[in-house]
Amino acid sequence: MAKVAIIGAGFAGHTAALYLGDALGKSHEITVINLHEYFYYVPSWVWVGIGRMDVNKTRFPLKPVYKKMGVNFVHGKATEIHPDEQYVVVELKDDGQTKHIAYDYLLIATGPKLNYAATEGLGPKYGYTQSICTAPHAVDSRDAYFKQIERMKQGERVKFVVGTGHPGATCQGAAFEYITNIHKDLLRRGLRDKAQLLWLSNEQAVGDFGVRGVHTTIKGQLLSSEDFIKAAFKEYDIAYEVQKGVYKVDANTIYWEDFDGNYGETPYDFAMLIPQFVGIPFKYIGKDGEDVSAKVVNKAGFVKVDAIYDQPYDLLVKNPTAWPELYQNPHYDNIFAAGIAFAPPGPISQPHVTPNGTSITAAPPRTGMVSGIIGRIVAKNIIDLIQKGRMTHGERMTEMAAACIASMGDSLWDGSAATIMIYPVVPDFRRYPNEQGRDLFVTHMEMGLGGAWMKRMIHSTFMYKLQGRLGWKVIPE
Ligand SMILES: Cc1cc2nc3c(=O)[nH]c(=O)nc-3n(C[C@H](O)[C@H](O)[C@H](O)COP(=O)(O)OP(=O)(O)OC[C@H]3O[C@@H](n4cnc5c(N)ncnc54)[C@H](O)[C@@H]3O)c2cc1C
Repeated sequence: MAKVAIIGAGFAGHTAALYLGDALGKSHEITVINLHEYFYYVPSWVWVGIGRMDVNKTRFPLKPVYKKMGVNFVHGKATEIHPDEQYVVVELKDDGQTKHIAYDYLLIATGPKLNYAATEGLGPKYGYTQSICTAPHAVDSRDAYFKQIERMKQGERVKFVVGTGHPGATCQGAAFEYITNIHKDLLRRGLRDKAQLLWLSNEQAVGDFGVRGVHTTIKGQLLSSEDFIKAAFKEYDIAYEVQKGVYKVDANTIYWEDFDGNYGETPYDFAMLIPQFVGIPFKYIGKDGEDVSAKVVNKAGFVKVDAIYDQPYDLLVKNPTAWPELYQNPHYDNIFAAGIAFAPPGPISQPHVTPNGTSITAAPPRTGMVSGIIGRIVAKNIIDLIQKGRMTHGERMTEMAAACIASMGDSLWDGSAATIMIYPVVPDFRRYPNEQGRDLFVTHMEMGLGGAWMKRMIHSTFMYKLQGRLGWKVIPE
């Protein structure tokens, strides 16, 4: 009987757990270790953050799903990984006791550590800004937003700044969705004229989103996400400033450096800024008690996999096979990583270093869809290894499609959404020798009410699928 341990039950780990449980749950030991007893549907926290959805509607308990699938659930925090002796140390949530979970195969799917500390004054706990990156933070964000609503009701004008809070931040899509939802919510409340909205980000251009922007041909014309998002910002009266790396925040001001090395300040009343993401800081301990982290993770704590690392960007963009296919650690071939936890070989967007030596570069996003797909690939390969002794699945981000729907309001009557389909997620200039490195017919952008319906439908469909209900496998990740 093989033992498979999964750390993290987000899009990546939970998707993997469903496939592994379905195929092996009855005959092998599958264990999921997760900090929370719930699966959270993270994309809907955008609506939680403006008070348009209760946080309880974004979650379901994991244990009943795992029971059905024959998967063990450990509610706790993994703290140490012992790759030579093949076990994980977990602090149990119930009683604080420590437990060792043995494994033959380990999947690390922990998502990021939200590194607020990398930017002075950032974050809701030790700083001044809001976040929608965890469920409690999204709820706090909502409460802080409501306070601003009260001020506006009293006739005050309020400045909202939304974007990235670190020169190397990612996840611009979530922040973009938040600012457009704030716009729509304020309109609904009749308060939009009391608010100034500013998009502040580290992207090299509006609409870059950490993926080098998106281009499509519509009626023979090439349309860029830069034009598309600029048009949306113009229509919604949202000001924008890009090419800015935020390095400090105080109670009223955001401090940044721009691409040219100039330093500047932006005053604000309410700010939601995405922090830097780093890997979860596990202790990786060898058989003699030595630190073996260099074999497993990079400096940022992301798990090294079968990617080609340390290539200059100019070479990386020309080499689609630099992106990993199996998500397997090169030193310990029974350790895999999926979702945000794996170390990408480099940025997708053009990197930029200022004259002061600061890198202001949007990090590559590993969105929910991408994380789920990778979780499935890794699960299928672990099933293969257990049943056939060899892996038969693989998909690089240079071969993967992703859909991104950024809602602008949650209403099914007057809401809207920007629907962006990208193929492949990471440009492949060998297969698509155009300036964008993408299939310009499959890649598509559209704005409209249909997207708002789709976004709602995706929330419900995923909450259904991820509870392992009838037919879950036919619903794609
Ligand atoms: C507000 C917001 C909106 C978004 N909207 C979209 C969208 O519309 N579409 C889209 O595709 N993507 C979206 N994303 C991105 C998407 O949510 C992430 O890409 C996705 O959640 C990453 O999945 P993951 O499984 O890698 O990590 P996570 O979802 O972060 O899951 C990791 C899990 O590991 C657990 N964990 C961490 N450390 C430990 C530990 N030490 N021990 C045990 N468990 C641990 C965590 O508690 C968590 O449950 C959005 C993100 C945000 C923040």
